[in-house]
Amino acid sequence: MRPGIIQGEQTMETQAIINETAITAILESTGTVPSPAILDLLDRARDLKGLSLEETAMLMQVTDPEVLEKLYETARYIKETIYGRRLVLFAPLYVSNLCANECLYCAFRARNKAVHRRSLTQEEIRNETRILVEQGHKRVLLVSGEAYPREGFDYILKAVDTVYATKSGPGEIRRVNVNVAPLTDEEFRRLKAAEIGTYQIFQETYHWDTYHRVHVAGKKRDYNWRITALDRAMNAGIDDVGIGVLYGLHDWKFETLALFQHIKHLETTFGVGPHTISVPRLEPATGSDMASAPPHEVSDDDFRKIIAIMRVAVPYTGIILSTRETVAMRRESFALGVSQISAGSRTNPGGYAEDRDVEASQFSLGDHRPLDEVIRDVASMGYVPSFCTGCYRLGRTGQDFMDMAKPGDIKCHCDPNALSTFEEYLLDYGSMETREIGEKAIAAALGEMTPAVRKRSETMLAKVTAGKRDVFC
Ligand code: SAM
Ligand code: SF4
Repeated sequence: MRPGIIQGEQTMETQAIINETAITAILESTGTVPSPAILDLLDRARDLKGLSLEETAMLMQVTDPEVLEKLYETARYIKETIYGRRLVLFAPLYVSNLCANECLYCAFRARNKAVHRRSLTQEEIRNETRILVEQGHKRVLLVSGEAYPREGFDYILKAVDTVYATKSGPGEIRRVNVNVAPLTDEEFRRLKAAEIGTYQIFQETYHWDTYHRVHVAGKKRDYNWRITALDRAMNAGIDDVGIGVLYGLHDWKFETLALFQHIKHLETTFGVGPHTISVPRLEPATGSDMASAPPHEVSDDDFRKIIAIMRVAVPYTGIILSTRETVAMRRESFALGVSQISAGSRTNPGGYAEDRDVEASQFSLGDHRPLDEVIRDVASMGYVPSFCTGCYRLGRTGQDFMDMAKPGDIKCHCDPNALSTFEEYLLDYGSMETREIGEKAIAAALGEMTPAVRKRSETMLAKVTAGKRDVFC
């Protein structure tokens, strides 16, 4: 299948991924569900087996404050059982804002004259990477608009190589995740060969008509090409993929059920679902009226509900929250199920080196705090900031990761890895204040471990304190 620009209709292949009629039928047939039935459902969800689409739709109807509290409590239980107190940190790295598409909500859209266009040279990418490394980051999400400089897609491959090759003192980036437009089979194979971590792409909206209303020109108008991107990525051997909806374009209940249909399609086809789900909400963007007045704005209350429902419905998939959200919402979301956050982000190419060129940004941010401040806050809330990249580097991805994660075995690795990478951060980059709070958080986390895991963790921490870096199991 090749990318096209006409609206056309859903192919048989993509109807098997997203079936709008089925989603609408589930939403219409799910009335208000009596509280005892919901409470019973939430009790059963504690077995960590996830939910069907019908059960998910039932949870969406909850409005009773007591039942809502039970939903949040269940989400918290599942989050802590699977992820413990860990919270993985990363930074986005915007390499280019050139774009040939016309997505009405995005500042990078082709016809927007208000944005200063720029694609970074490899030297500039090196420079941005060095700044992130010197802040203590170990994971980046490389982001680009859908138009590359003269070398075409090779530009992205070179950028990935540049990020991996950049070192500064004891630091380096150990996992490059990528969020770029849908690729061909061959391009995905080349991306896999570049040793990326997760390939991430958001459908934005799963609703066919809305999709075509908001994507008015360019390759991205081709819904079918975009929705099949993750299948091509997985067929090319990229087994950690990230999925997402841009909340605010269409009804959140429809979008969330459609996202779960997409997840179930991947599970059925590849035996494993996505590694992560992102939950971006539409934020104001230069030159976009739609971004300032989302057609289906998601309230904070509904947003909390979305995160908690995701945690309960797909317990083993990481949930990512970006700095689009405010500090208060980010803090609340950790208990509801979020397991990864970005920190200290800039959404303009070159934004880490030059703190000025905001006219080149993609959207406005809700959390402007530097990494050290975010880490201090996270640790003071009792969470353990983690920079772990162990699974990916030991080949524990896709099915292997899920096979380990499901019986809970992954915790014996994740918890010690989180502590060793956090200690590494504190020693190499943490401010005095953060170090003090961080060491207390590490001691508290050790105190909660089983004797065997604690022993393993203490051995690893001792190696880090003695000067060894990149200690993982
Ligand atoms: N250009 C590629 C694409 O569209 O898939 C990848 C990069 S694009 C910069 C990354 C994501 O930014 C998009 O998938 C979209 O969900 C998100 N985005 C665009 N405009 C936004 C806005 N105003 N507020 C929040 N997120 C936005
Ligand atoms: Fe371009 Fe992506 Fe923005 Fe659409 S969302 S205008 S494709 S950068």
